[in-house]
Amino acid sequence: MTGDLQAAEVILCCGRGLQNKRNLNLAFRVADCIQAQIAGTRAAVDLGWIPANREIGLSGARVEPQIYIGCGVSGTNFHTMGMKHAKKIIAINTDPLAPIFQIADIRIEEDVCKVLFALMHTFSEKNSLQPSSIHHPSVDELLAFFDR
Ligand SMILES: Cc1cc2nc3c(=O)[nH]c(=O)nc-3n(C[C@H](O)[C@H](O)[C@H](O)COP(=O)(O)OP(=O)(O)OC[C@H]3O[C@@H](n4cnc5c(N)ncnc54)[C@H](O)[C@@H]3O)c2cc1C
Repeated sequence: MTGDLQAAEVILCCGRGLQNKRNLNLAFRVADCIQAQIAGTRAAVDLGWIPANREIGLSGARVEPQIYIGCGVSGTNFHTMGMKHAKKIIAINTDPLAPIFQIADIRIEEDVCKVLFALMHTFSEKNSLQPSSIHHPSVDELLAFFDR
């Protein structure tokens, strides 16, 4: 995992709600497709999914990307201290009472894999229509995807 978290326009943050390595790999593929930097919660770090230097929060990095996408992240204060200044916070969580929804600009109450597959499908499709050049979505295109 390379790339500067602080300079990232888009951060895809992996939480325990991703549940297993297979889903984590899906998140990595999507991050690649949309050119997002990967980060994680303390729980994801403790599970060995994400390196400790990519943890966001009180004891991790403080970031201010254009878009933060929380994938199965509950959003305790310890975590939100590191990402609450993101321009747009998109939260994907199956629990309507997840604390992250209180600060999210876009709330998606869904299984995270369903949303990741939809992202993958949408932006891979664009690439297959433009095979000569890989098309990475702009911030506005990503927001349009989530804001529908
Ligand atoms: C002193 C101290 C400092 C800490 N510092 C940090 C820090 O800097 N950064 C940090 O991140 N944490 C920190 N923590 C830990 C923090 O309190 C939380 O335990 C941690 O952030 C939780 O990580 P999580 O959201 O991945 O996991 P969980 O809290 O387990 O949340 C998982 C979420 O996934 C959702 N979910 C489950 N299945 C699905 C699905 N299929 N689709 C979508 N959503 C689903 C659940 O509803 C749940 O909300 C600290 C704790 C302490 C005590």
